[in-house]
Amino acid sequence: MLPFDYIEWLLEHGADPLQPIQTQAIGNGQSSDTDVAERTCAHAVTFAIGATIRLQRWDTEEAGIEYVKGAKALNRRFLHLGLADACTCACSIEGCTLQVYQLKGLLDFRYADSNCLADPAHLSSSVTAYYEHFAATLSPGGHRDTIRFLTFSALGATHTCCFFNLMGCHYKVSPEDIEDVQDEEEAVLERLEQLVLYFEAELFALLKQWPDSPERLAEFWPGCWLPKMQEVLAELNGSDLSKEVKAGAEEAGVVWQESNSSPRVEEIDVYDERIWEHLMKKLDGIAPRK
Ligand SMILES: [Zn+2]
Ligand SMILES: [Zn+2]
Repeated sequence: MLPFDYIEWLLEHGADPLQPIQTQAIGNGQSSDTDVAERTCAHAVTFAIGATIRLQRWDTEEAGIEYVKGAKALNRRFLHLGLADACTCACSIEGCTLQVYQLKGLLDFRYADSNCLADPAHLSSSVTAYYEHFAATLSPGGHRDTIRFLTFSALGATHTCCFFNLMGCHYKVSPEDIEDVQDEEEAVLERLEQLVLYFEAELFALLKQWPDSPERLAEFWPGCWLPKMQEVLAELNGSDLSKEVKAGAEEAGVVWQESNSSPRVEEIDVYDERIWEHLMKKLDGIAPRK
């Protein structure tokens, strides 16, 4: 679990959450493929909150309640800032925001190639549980980011943004190929824009209806988003567009990684002790403990 009290202590003692981080993979002697510009300590913290919610690594129910309380306080402090990084991917408007980093932690973006991220039922249930606790900490922009990120993923479009863990950022599609991939997936991306407009209208109508109980927005995911996505995907599969998209991306030079093959970058367990040692050293560099 993230040491919230220590993070709060750092913030109270002048630590700058907007300090950029440059990560370097440890453990196997490899460094990151590419460092992502505009990424800060706040991105690492919001990502880790998402990952902890997914893994629910707390010993007791009380510890879980404490965790959610601490995570909410940090979310309130950071999420509304937006802070897009320098990625180019239609899963976000202008780069991965803090909200997107939290979703990547929540949905285990390391396995973006696997069916897990493209399975709308899995996406819907994960985000429903997340909304039940955290919807009140999301800004209007955060709801928009969540709709776009999930819809893009469920459509099976190729993420050209960063694949992130606490030790580094990596790209599955090299920056030179991004434009080609987007051109090849133009039809899907057009569909994405239509769906995003539709979902935003639905979600913000609910928000207007329940201004004082944003957690009720959790109902939006299984009640509106999921059935609509299943309908759209059935239609797309019928037209074989998904196969065309994949073939087009292959023509553009994308090499698909088999989901059961060895990952290009060593998979790192967020809860590996070495990572926390490393992270604590970084934090000490910002504001030394006395
Ligand atoms: Zn993306
Ligand atoms: Zn990114």
